[in-house]
Amino acid sequence: MPKLQAPRGTRDQLPTERAVFLRLEDTARDLAMRYGFQPIETPMFEGSAVYERGVGKATDVVEKELFRVQAGRGESERERWALRPEPTAGIVRAFVQHGMRTWPQPVKLTLTGPMFRYDRPQAGRYRQFWQFDVEVIGDPGPAIDAETIELAMAFFGAVGLTDVRVLVNSIGDAACRPAYIEALAAHFRAHQDELPEPEQARLEISPLRLLDSKDQRMQPLIAAAPTITEHLCDDCQAHFDGLLAHLEGVSIEPRLEPTLVRGLDYYTRTAFEFYRPGAEGQQQALGGGGRYDGLVELLGGQPTPGIGFGIGLDRVALALAEQDAAPAAEPWKPTVVVVGADPDDTVVRLQLATELRGAGLACRPDLSARRLGKQLDGAARLGAHFAVICGDELGAGNVQVKDLMAGTQRQVDVTDLARDLARAHAQHRHGEDG
Ligand code: AMP
Repeated sequence: MPKLQAPRGTRDQLPTERAVFLRLEDTARDLAMRYGFQPIETPMFEGSAVYERGVGKATDVVEKELFRVQAGRGESERERWALRPEPTAGIVRAFVQHGMRTWPQPVKLTLTGPMFRYDRPQAGRYRQFWQFDVEVIGDPGPAIDAETIELAMAFFGAVGLTDVRVLVNSIGDAACRPAYIEALAAHFRAHQDELPEPEQARLEISPLRLLDSKDQRMQPLIAAAPTITEHLCDDCQAHFDGLLAHLEGVSIEPRLEPTLVRGLDYYTRTAFEFYRPGAEGQQQALGGGGRYDGLVELLGGQPTPGIGFGIGLDRVALALAEQDAAPAAEPWKPTVVVVGADPDDTVVRLQLATELRGAGLACRPDLSARRLGKQLDGAARLGAHFAVICGDELGAGNVQVKDLMAGTQRQVDVTDLARDLARAHAQHRHGEDG
């Protein structure tokens, strides 16, 4: 039989790595809630149209990387689904579907979970990866844009990445971007012969996307292209100035990056990405986001402004590991393991374990028929603090409690066991802290 393995581009998060992710997820959720965001979850797959419209057909994410799901037997041929490549489109779809524009505005939602892109796997680029995402729907900014960016920076700081820089740009709006796109298209058309094949096709559909190209041959042409900053209308300029003033107000020094466009035509004004110094390659962004004032309407709602970001937790975890700052991931340890000398007393072991857990102790019974010595070895290997030994004394209502760390042993009345262990464990931890 061929060896069964996790699919290419995915990986198992074994308990130690999972512990790191859980910490990141907890920090993300706690922080977002402190900023007034409410948690939301949307399905991991949606009708493909949500992404085709909500992310854009001409984007890499949809054109090349969408993880399409085959309809199961009996499903309508017309049903076309895809695994979510990013959270914004699904959340905006939910905003429209559930009439959230009647909720107190702006609606602030946060989601942390797996995303899927059928991408070529490499370091920091997986087919299943995790994002911490926030969306603010119903506020035109620019103050809220700065608050959103500040939240992302606070997250990086809270998890221990203190040197993250934010790159910002304005990509204009429906009033000024068309003229810019014209100028951009003219620039690339003048170099049409030098454009790699896929970029030639994109030039006709979405010239802005060329600025996002990862192709090395495109880099000199991108560097020489006209910038949006020179083409902003007065409103967009005022919005951008407002963003910068508010960022300064919260002590964030952004780097202005005129080629940062995040490529999608209905994205408007504010666009931003997060990098660490020395890790500024196109596959190294820790996260990014932007304003999408056209998206709610595009997905069937009333015109409503919105802004959000997605932070890649896999890349954050990698960055933390690189700087040896991964949150200490202690493997799970039981406080107590209940063992028994009599192979037939598993009912008692189970009962005692249930009682101890009811009293709040992390406890696992050894329910095997192994010899007592093996069970005690097993408890020590798990890193348990105590072993509760069920033996002959049970008849008189007592058990032996072995302190595996101190190497001591004493008899304890079963009716007192939970309280006794909780106290002894707390005292020990107190000693450790002190
Ligand atoms: P994007 O929507 O492509 O800007 O993605 C937002 C963030 O998600 C990126 O900055 C990365 O940190 C992360 N990300 C995107 N795609 C992947 C991937 N294939 N594997 C791991 N992380 C990813």
